[in-house]
Order: sequence, then C-alpha cells, then structure tokens
Amino acid sequence: MQTATTLDMLRNALAKLRHAGSTVALVPTMGALHEGHLALVREARAKCDHVVASIFVNPTQFGPNEDLDAYPRQLAQDSAMLEAEGVALLWAPTLEAMYPDGFATTISVSGVSEGQCGAARPGHFDGVATVVCKLFNQVMPDMAFFGEKDFQQLAVIRAMARDLDLTRPHVRDIVGVPTVREADGLAMSSRNRYLSQRDRAAAAALPRAMKAAIAAIEAGEDVGQALAALKDALLGAGFDRIDYAELVDSTSLAALDSVNCVPARLLVAARIGGTRLIDNMGVSIKGQYQQA
Ligand code: AMP
Repeated sequence: MQTATTLDMLRNALAKLRHAGSTVALVPTMGALHEGHLALVREARAKCDHVVASIFVNPTQFGPNEDLDAYPRQLAQDSAMLEAEGVALLWAPTLEAMYPDGFATTISVSGVSEGQCGAARPGHFDGVATVVCKLFNQVMPDMAFFGEKDFQQLAVIRAMARDLDLTRPHVRDIVGVPTVREADGLAMSSRNRYLSQRDRAAAAALPRAMKAAIAAIEAGEDVGQALAALKDALLGAGFDRIDYAELVDSTSLAALDSVNCVPARLLVAARIGGTRLIDNMGVSIKGQYQQA
C-alpha cells in the first residue's frame, strides 16, 4: 500500500494505479478505524479493482466546542489495518494540502442538511460537503463508499454530488453500506471509545429503544407516543439529553408524523456522559402496502 500526504504524491500514485478499464473506489474516513470502516473497504474491494482510502480529521466539520482536539488519531495502526484489507493507496493529506493558505470556498447543501444533526451542529454539513467534494475532485473515483450509520451525511453527499454534476463522468456511484454494530446492538463509532464502562453498557439502550419504537410504529401505534416512549427509555437508561428523535422520509429527511407510503427512517442523536451518539434504522411500511 502506498501512502500519499500531498496532492502531487496522490496524483502520481493514482496515475500508476489507473490503467485502461480499471476502476477505483474511494472510502473517506477520519481514521480511528473499526469494523464499520472495514465493511466499507470490503464492499469497495468487491466492487472495484483498486481501493483508495482517505484519512483526514476535517477541522471544518467540527464546531468550536466539539471534540476536534480529542478526536482519536492513530495513523500507524489505521494504515496497517487498511493494508491488511488490500487497500492500494492511503490518502492522508496534511492540513496544508487540504486547506492551503487563503482557502475561501464552502459548499452548503440546503434542505437535507438543515434538520436533525444540521440543526444540532451548525456548519457541520458545510464542512462535510466541502471536504467530500474536494476528495471527489482529488481522487475522481468511479465509486465512493459511505456508511448508512451517518444517514443524513449520506443524503447530503448524494444531493451535493447530484447538484454539482459530480456523478458523471466520475463518481458514477455513491454506495451506502449498512451499519455495523457491536454484539449488543450499539452502532460502531470512533466516538464509542470516549464512553466510560458504565456509559458504554447503558448506551446499548439506544438501539434497543429504537427497535421498540419501530415495532410500535409498525404495529400502528401513534408516532408521537412511540417517540416520547423512546426518549423516556433513553433518559431512564442514563442518557443526559436527546438532541432529536425523529421519524423522517428516507429521501428528503422531512419529519413524518405517521408512516405513509414513503420509505421511512428513524433518526436519533442522544448524549451520554458528554458523548454524542447517533443511530438510525429503517421503518417498514409493509403492513400498509399489504392493506392497499
Ligand atoms: P468517520 O471516520 O466516522 O468519518 O466515518 C467514515 C465512514 O465510515 C463514513 O462513511 C461513516 O458513515 C462510515 N461508518 C462509521 N461507522 C460505521 C458503522 N458502524 N457501520 C458502517 N459504516 C460506518
């Protein structure tokens, strides 16, 4: 596996990788890799000839009071994990390579980026859209892989790529990969390591309460009541605050107060012991289709 830290190194390495007819996948990450990231790499390897993984802790997507400085950095360990997975090229740009002096452009996607995490973390998705647009232009991958774990991020990136014509001729496909979970159901996240042993145990209440809410909604219970019960369950389990718990249209992310004939998703962000956890799950509307 080669590692590039400057744009020149990246371009040279990409030129050597690309040959007639070969396909290149991009897997963007912020490092501190776990099985969730590796699932993206494996999917990318299955679909493309070469995988480029990026590791960049992007400062522009962190708010002033967020965990940029504390965010785990372990490049040597991550690099070994990527190499073992058959990644061809690691793009680990320096801060200067990504944001040279005088950098002045921001991409802002309205609509899908405004609710949920966008409301709770002002500016976050501008930082994400801008850095991902740069990564797309730098690597020009045939396919790019993102986790459904960050469901709103995936929606923002799809909208940005569509609106800025990034989907043709490059980035032919933006692939969403299902969330990888721990044995007790907690979605894997680089931030789980911030949790104390007690909070880690309590955090399993998040997927459990979400499943219970989804079962209630799918059984025809009132959405508002199911969401209220979900919030109560989280607060009862030791969560300190719920940023949001919403049933949304899976494409527009507009809030729904009932499950109608659009694919729906339950999105939750909640805080425990100073750590903010997010999760999302699909809500089936099978019963309604069967009745129709
Ligand atoms: P991050 O390093 O947190 O920015 O994540 C990099 C990529 O990995 C994003 O596309 C995430 O959605 C994805 N990802 C993170 N955690 C998981 C997980 N548990 N399962 C699947 N994908 C994940």
